[in-house]
Amino acid sequence: MTDTRRNSFARAYIAKQKIPYSNFIFNGCFSFTHRDKNLLLSPDTGTTIIVDNTLANNIKNCLFDDSLLLKLIQRRFVTNTNDHDVHSIHHDLFPTFFLIDITSSCNFSCTYCFRKRNDDEILISDSVLDDICEFIKLHCNTNDLRHIDIQPWGGEPLLALNKIERIYNAFSGTDINIHISLETNGSLLTEKTLRALAAMRVSVGISIDGPPEVQDSQRCFKNGDPSSSVLEKNISRLHAIKGLQNVNAICVLTPESSLHVDEILEYFGRKLRIPHVKVNFAHSSNFSPYEGLSTTSAAIETPLRDILLSIRRLYKEDIVINEGNISQRLKNLLLRDSSSICISRGCVGGYKMVSFDRWGNIFPCELLDYPDEKIGNIYDGKPLGAIVQDAVKTHRYFIPKTSPSCLDCPWRYYCQGGCTSALTYAGKHPPQIDDAQCLINNFLYPELIKMCLSEPDLVNAMLEMDILQ
Ligand code: SF4
Ligand code: SF4
Repeated sequence: MTDTRRNSFARAYIAKQKIPYSNFIFNGCFSFTHRDKNLLLSPDTGTTIIVDNTLANNIKNCLFDDSLLLKLIQRRFVTNTNDHDVHSIHHDLFPTFFLIDITSSCNFSCTYCFRKRNDDEILISDSVLDDICEFIKLHCNTNDLRHIDIQPWGGEPLLALNKIERIYNAFSGTDINIHISLETNGSLLTEKTLRALAAMRVSVGISIDGPPEVQDSQRCFKNGDPSSSVLEKNISRLHAIKGLQNVNAICVLTPESSLHVDEILEYFGRKLRIPHVKVNFAHSSNFSPYEGLSTTSAAIETPLRDILLSIRRLYKEDIVINEGNISQRLKNLLLRDSSSICISRGCVGGYKMVSFDRWGNIFPCELLDYPDEKIGNIYDGKPLGAIVQDAVKTHRYFIPKTSPSCLDCPWRYYCQGGCTSALTYAGKHPPQIDDAQCLINNFLYPELIKMCLSEPDLVNAMLEMDILQ
């Protein structure tokens, strides 16, 4: 006889209620139940708490002892009746992540490349790059920012290694600490380049889509040559370099490769020994004839389910795959972590991140190929804070994204309608929502909550911390 309770998972809403004989109000929450454990989630504050069935029933029946009340106050499930601020998310206007487009040149010709290719002016000039660095420094000094992130972007950024070194040198000797991260196709990681990146403590993300049969079918050199053997050689060289931190793989799932998720994750974990992976779905763009993964629930859910199955299978074989989109959502749930620019508090592109093109134009996020999305220029004579402040009032990028289903959505604190760039690539604009992100959240969050309630060891291993008992 099968145990029907074993996999049962139920979702309910516990209504808002005033706590009798007190000045406190319970603000309402979603409850997710698996066997004898419940994860309560406040959709207004993104906080969660895991309780047993007895405590969950006490909350439903408005029975709060002092210890439970204190825990719920700390997590803002319960607030003072005079506290009206529980529903708002505040974004500060101090970008600390800067993307700089240093070259449009690339030695690859990926089937799904979404960038507009411009072969006339391919490299940023030294003078514009220096001016961008000065502009960022002024912004940091005005706002007392001492730690920032810079991502040189392309094209293939390692075709312009000297520009990356120029950025690094521009901040050396200042009291502004920069962390440079890079997304490279991995083909130019010679020993000399790897040592240069290690000396600058650059975090390296290698775009690689999976084992040779997958990689070579969608990520070839410009002349059509396969790239997998070059990458495998470079990645084994990379493991031997001391000082290179935070190496991760960035994998794009296409309709074809999404049929091979298990082999892809096995390849990263076992063969390449890069267990930190970010899996993104290929999307269409105005600048390529490529049709991305369709935004139907079947097209999105099947590969996500396969990713989870593969992570579980490999975990049983002592290989822990840390997939970035999954880990970040677990951190959202369990730590109310705000570190993701994209999926912790909705899209904070523009607020926390801006990008610069090769002429000093400023954009929210990576929308450099869309002139209408420009919010200013470094030569406008205005500081960055003022440029962003004005854009927030006038530019459509900052219009909140919502649909009727967002109003009672459990994930709304983390999602806020999804990715504005994805909308733009799809030819839409706020206030429309990002349908793909909506489907991903509605599939993944319940699965991850179930995982938190039933597989705490796996969650701890993925997050690399002992957070669940
Ligand atoms: S537009 Fe999309 S990619 Fe850019 S910051 Fe927002 S969520 Fe992230
Ligand atoms: S877009 Fe979808 S997942 Fe996001 S808040 Fe709206 S309904 Fe929820």
